[in-house]
Amino acid sequence: MLIMRIGIAIGDFNVYSVLGLLRFYEITNFYFKKKGENCFFFLSFPKFGNCLVWSQVVRETWGLSGKRVQDYTLYTGALGTAYLVFKAYQVTKNDNDLKLCSDIVKACDSASKDSGRVTFICGRAGVYALGAVIAKHSGDTSLQQRYLEKFKEIRFPSDLPHELLYGRAGFLWACSFLNKHIGKDTISTARIRAVVDEIIESGKRLAGKGRCPLMYEWHGKKYWGAAHGLAGIIHVLMDTELKPDEAEYVKGTLRYIIKNRFPSGNYPSSEGSESDRLVHWCHGAPGITLTLVKAAEVFGDKEFLQAALDAGEVVWKRGLLKRVGICHGISGNAYVFLSLYRLTGNVEYLYRAKAFTSFLSDRAEKLISQGKMHGGDRPYSLFEGIGGMAHLFLDMVKASEARFPAYEI
Ligand SMILES: [Zn+2]
Repeated sequence: MLIMRIGIAIGDFNVYSVLGLLRFYEITNFYFKKKGENCFFFLSFPKFGNCLVWSQVVRETWGLSGKRVQDYTLYTGALGTAYLVFKAYQVTKNDNDLKLCSDIVKACDSASKDSGRVTFICGRAGVYALGAVIAKHSGDTSLQQRYLEKFKEIRFPSDLPHELLYGRAGFLWACSFLNKHIGKDTISTARIRAVVDEIIESGKRLAGKGRCPLMYEWHGKKYWGAAHGLAGIIHVLMDTELKPDEAEYVKGTLRYIIKNRFPSGNYPSSEGSESDRLVHWCHGAPGITLTLVKAAEVFGDKEFLQAALDAGEVVWKRGLLKRVGICHGISGNAYVFLSLYRLTGNVEYLYRAKAFTSFLSDRAEKLISQGKMHGGDRPYSLFEGIGGMAHLFLDMVKASEARFPAYEI
């Protein structure tokens, strides 16, 4: 068994070393043909090998596992690797990368067949939605159709929450993703409308006569952040067509959380929490900044723009965390500056994104090996590990088009 394992490792190492050199050529070639805003980033990139971190993630999460999938999710599992490789394909346009994504998604499809989870990040909606989009890029219409049929067969369990990772908002995000990448009405307005209605009605019910128009609970707690709370749910709602009164509920909810932020400018992780500690995408200012950026884009209100800029300052001052990932690490916080850059066009935010990215590029590997930085509970995963960092490195090739993975459409 051990000999087999070593054999696989050596075989993969050789294959991936050669592939790595080719990928490096493709990415640098792509870049040098498109000189522009990212010149500074690449000139300051001390280790060219960091362009290839994504190949290392593939080797660790797919090659060395013998292409067997245990955790199929995008958050910590194989679908996250597929999403990362799809990003690499968007940079390289190499058909082999597309084929690799497709193979990983097929393995996720098999591994998830008995799963009751329904979201993009932690459930089957992610497998089918990403599978359909990859099939579209591959020109395989029958495979695209099969994934879409499976997507449309998803039924909600009766106790489904509303938050992003496990609830309705996470399913709704997958609908918006399909309609963006495959075409308007791939998922019908009626289907989307039914989910939006459920989310809004439930939010109004729990809010009751409280000061916040919408409120939700997950495991008995009224979270505010992107992963389990208000920021994530509202972010996804703003990707859909809201009725005027629903838009007012959303705006009112945003005004409530802005008014009740900490004196430091950071945001509580849940209703009534007095612990001003977390500056993560999942809990705290980073996830809420992305929601405020979206609100500024959708509604055009200056108050949301100002609140987004204020929250971004907290991320700059306190967001250089001791973890690498996108959920609660430096990579996720770098995406906040990319989002603010896209919204404002102010290059200060691009420089801040580059500063965080260059820190990761320079230091992450060494700090993790010294035990000074946490490598993530799932060290190669998209949301908790260096998979997210690899995604950020790829996004920096064209920073103005960067999007927080599986969150910013
Ligand atoms: Zn987190």
